[in-house]
Amino acid sequence: MGCCLALELAQRGYRVDLVDLGSAPMTGASLHNEGKLHLGYVYANDPLKITHGLMLRGSLAFSHIIEKLTGCAAEALSSSQPFQYYVPIDSQLSMTAIGDHFHEVEQAIHEQIKNFGHLYFNRKYDRYFKQNLPDAHCNSFSPELTLGSFKTEERSVCTADVANILCRAVGKEPNINCILKTRVIAAERLSSGEVEIESNGGGKVSRATYSCVANCLWDDRLRIDETAGIANDGPWISRYKATISISAPTVSCNRIPSATGILGPYGDVVNHRDGSYYISWYPWIA
Ligand SMILES: Cc1cc2nc3c(=O)[nH]c(=O)nc-3n(C[C@H](O)[C@H](O)[C@H](O)COP(=O)(O)OP(=O)(O)OC[C@H]3O[C@@H](n4cnc5c(N)ncnc54)[C@H](O)[C@@H]3O)c2cc1C
Repeated sequence: MGCCLALELAQRGYRVDLVDLGSAPMTGASLHNEGKLHLGYVYANDPLKITHGLMLRGSLAFSHIIEKLTGCAAEALSSSQPFQYYVPIDSQLSMTAIGDHFHEVEQAIHEQIKNFGHLYFNRKYDRYFKQNLPDAHCNSFSPELTLGSFKTEERSVCTADVANILCRAVGKEPNINCILKTRVIAAERLSSGEVEIESNGGGKVSRATYSCVANCLWDDRLRIDETAGIANDGPWISRYKATISISAPTVSCNRIPSATGILGPYGDVVNHRDGSYYISWYPWIA
């Protein structure tokens, strides 16, 4: 988020200091996540029915934003096998409820494309999902443990590729000054309206004043907000998900679909189609 915002501001002519604890930008959650460009299928239990719309707007705009910020065509990014959604027998929702949600998502995708023109991965599909027939379902999933499954056009990108092109663009942008290996300690809003940032780089504490600051931290965001007088108005729901990336011979890669269990604490497999897989799950904590 920090890199994208810095590039957007820099391209509009603002000078930006990009401060990060890491030795390079994009080494945090943005590098280690699943890379799924969500169309919103997984948010089937949202009582307000708004999360899928938010997610699909971002995913449909992704290619356009990446191209605008980096000059790289989004097609150059490799994408995973499309996701299948399987419904375990103890799912919180029935096949029918999930199917209804998928139809809503489908309609929202078509409306968003009609209104804004941005395409998912710059490609247009007639249908973004279909329910698997029993044979196709049993080819990929255990019929004893699952009620059924849906095939979708949803995909993941390789997060390392995204990080590379964004870091390259940041490095080439004369309006961005990267201040790395530096921890932001606090932010104070001054009476002048400016913001003073206290940071620690290499054991040296320093202060700098800015007319505008964006807090793009992930793990430390709420703490830094509080130092600037922005109240932590939780409660928050936190989830703990374990992940592992593995590399395996490419010969076997086509038989393993990218897959997400829905709806409950199940997890995902992403088949990146190059012999690498991202696997995530919710560990049982006593
Ligand atoms: C396991 C997992 C899987 C996910 N899967 C998906 C997915 O499939 N699709 C999706 O859209 N989203 C997914 N997400 C969410 C996504 O990763 C985040 O929304 C996104 O990466 C957040 O970007 P960010 O720039 O805010 O955070 P980050 O990329 O973590 O950047 C924050 C930066 O702040 C730096 N930092 C932290 N504290 C300080 C400090 N005090 N001072 C200076 N620097 C500091 C860190 O070094 C880091 O570089 C997932 C998240 C996780 C954890």
